[in-house]
Amino acid sequence: MIYVQWENIKKEITSDLISTNNIMTSSIQSVLHKNEALLNILGKRLVELGALQYPDISAQKLIDELLDNNPDLAGIGLANLSGQLVLTSLNIERSTLPNLRNTPETSDTFNEALKTKNMVIGRTYYMKALKQWLIPLRYRISNDEGKVMAVMTTGLKLNDKQNLWSNKNIPEHMKVLIVRKDLYRQYIGNAYSDKISVKYSEPTPVNWVNLFEKNLIEQVGINLAELRSSGQTVSLISSYGDKRTPVILAISYDHGYQHYTIIATPLSYLYRRLLRPIAWMLTLLVFFNVTLYFILRSNLRLQKKSKQHLKYQSTHDQLTDLPNRRYLLNQFSLWQNKNRGYFSILFIDLDNFKSINDSHGHSVGDIILRDVAVRINHIFQQSLNIRQGGDEFIILHREVNQEKLIALVQQFLQHLKQPLIINNLEFFMSASVGISFAPEHGDDIDTLLRKADMAMYEAKRKQSAVYVFSQRLEEQQNRKVSIENELIHALERNEFFLVYQPQINAGTQSLAGVEALLRWHNPLLGKVSPMEFIPVAESTGLIIDIGLYVLKTALSEISDARKRINYSENIRVSVNVSVCQLLNDNFLDKILSIKNKQEYTHIDLVIEVTENLFIEDLDAAKSILERIQQAGMEVSLDDFGTGYSSLSVLSKLPVNELKIDKSFVDDIIQDEQNRLLILSIISLGKSLAIPVVAEGVEDREQADFLAEHGCDVFQGYYFSRPLAKEQLMAYIHSGV
Ligand code: C2E
Ligand code: CA
Ligand code: CA
Repeated sequence: MIYVQWENIKKEITSDLISTNNIMTSSIQSVLHKNEALLNILGKRLVELGALQYPDISAQKLIDELLDNNPDLAGIGLANLSGQLVLTSLNIERSTLPNLRNTPETSDTFNEALKTKNMVIGRTYYMKALKQWLIPLRYRISNDEGKVMAVMTTGLKLNDKQNLWSNKNIPEHMKVLIVRKDLYRQYIGNAYSDKISVKYSEPTPVNWVNLFEKNLIEQVGINLAELRSSGQTVSLISSYGDKRTPVILAISYDHGYQHYTIIATPLSYLYRRLLRPIAWMLTLLVFFNVTLYFILRSNLRLQKKSKQHLKYQSTHDQLTDLPNRRYLLNQFSLWQNKNRGYFSILFIDLDNFKSINDSHGHSVGDIILRDVAVRINHIFQQSLNIRQGGDEFIILHREVNQEKLIALVQQFLQHLKQPLIINNLEFFMSASVGISFAPEHGDDIDTLLRKADMAMYEAKRKQSAVYVFSQRLEEQQNRKVSIENELIHALERNEFFLVYQPQINAGTQSLAGVEALLRWHNPLLGKVSPMEFIPVAESTGLIIDIGLYVLKTALSEISDARKRINYSENIRVSVNVSVCQLLNDNFLDKILSIKNKQEYTHIDLVIEVTENLFIEDLDAAKSILERIQQAGMEVSLDDFGTGYSSLSVLSKLPVNELKIDKSFVDDIIQDEQNRLLILSIISLGKSLAIPVVAEGVEDREQADFLAEHGCDVFQGYYFSRPLAKEQLMAYIHSGV
């Protein structure tokens, strides 16, 4: 495509050059013809007037008038055959003029003019008298007989805008060159240029000419001589000047006045022409690309923005705008490095949030969570505050001083206590906070979080608001885990057994009954106290099956023992039942289906329950206790005195026995407070006609004191430790 374009441009320019050359040639010819005719007429008249011998005033007038009417001429002169100027126009100081025949610059053309019929054009030269570049013109004057009489001479001004060579119609990119047959350069110029840029009188260097002729032969097929004789205007590509500027040109030769006319255009002009549309295309292309670039870039920016937005969304909690757990996981190592591994992790869990959410709705819950987030950000600054989910928050803090950190947490808890008003309701929030320290407690996020979480649970359990993780807590936790793991298989592996602790009537010192106590011997863990494993059994739900085992075993073992020692009376057997057992729907039915067997009619079953049964729902607890009584069993209130509602609710509950907690009995002698409490329990029992059992009686002093103040039954090491079935049989057999 570019090639075609190039060819088209070349063709176009070539034809422009040729036609310009033709126009130029004919316009030069007409100017020269005019001047030739002018010199001819004037010369003849002057010769007729005898000016060669006596140039008089009329001859002078004639010559000056002619000059006036032809401003392109620099001056006019008449020379005799010896080269002496006999008459010149007045503008020339004749004395400054040389003898045309004797002066080297003029002699050639003068002599030639004498020989030639046509006007002779001399080499361009600078005429000091006129301060002008001139082209000399010489024309011989003959008389009617044909005898040469004189030579007329004149000069064509070159730097006149009206000069011979200049043509306003020549395009700017074209250059005009007039070169004589002897290869002297006459004129080089642009269309509008009146500046002279070349020493005209100099011959064209031979190597230029040779190169030109070589190109002419190669491209056109003729040499310079053939060009001259053909009269053609031809075009070719050659180079010009010292810089060998490549040009495309049209050249012709004027036979009459013996000069070449060359119209040339630098090839660079053609390239520009060629490149213009390409440049346009390039500009368009660049524009297009730039536009595309900007579109793509803004697109990318949008994408990046939306990516960032997505990333933000995926790493932030929408409700509170706090970073989420994912963010924490992403940023953890950065945080760690920033603090050189030393920092603290706080695990915050709101207290009773679930019940607020359940009773006031999620929208209220949301407002609370948002508010808590604000309060967290208010107190914990320069920290990484995360919403873990639900009502749990995690804070990575720089503070590693435990006291300072706890003080800060207390400040937060204090701030959290400020009431929050939603829908005219006041909400008071509190939280449990667990703390772990890095690197003391670990250096990976999972470990640190697990430990802070563990500490938080301990805080909840202890209702102490803040708890710092400790190795002991972890050991407890591990122990709990291994207990849990082992407890699952304990029943099927027959690792449980029961012991029975006798209860003694205060007055008669006779056997009042036995309390069945569960024992667990695990091959891995050894003996595990029920104080340790019962809570685990409760939390895992294993307590249901374990409870049934206790009941079945106690009934069958005691009934068997009774038979074997021929015990005639009913035996009262107390069994501990956890709250969650009682709340389990068909637990009671299961007890009854076991108890109501024929062989157990001589056993009076007592269900020992703890006070915390009433915390949940007093009415429900009451109906459970009533059903126990209706089924022919008794209810014993265990650990009495440790709970807060004890004394006040007792009157409303169907209870057959009160067991004073061991802790009160322990320091009954030393502690006035405890003594008073025990006395009030005993008197309460008396007034409600409920027998009172003292638990954990370890010495005589305690027993005496309790007996003195009206306690009905004793249980404790002072009387007997819990006994295995065989020992119990011996105990009963011997003592009673
Ligand atoms: P508890 O029901 O208050 O049981 C009395 C605990 O006090 C028993 O501990 C008993 O061995 C201990 N004890 C009795 N007299 C004395 C004394 O003079 N000095 C001292 N230092 N201790 C005395 P044990 O057997 O370790 O039971 C602990 C707790 O485990 C029980 O407290 C009871 O709440 C629970 N538990 C035991 N067996 C069962 C069971 O079969 N089912 C349920 N749900 N809980 C049980
Ligand atoms: Ca008990
Ligand atoms: Ca107890």
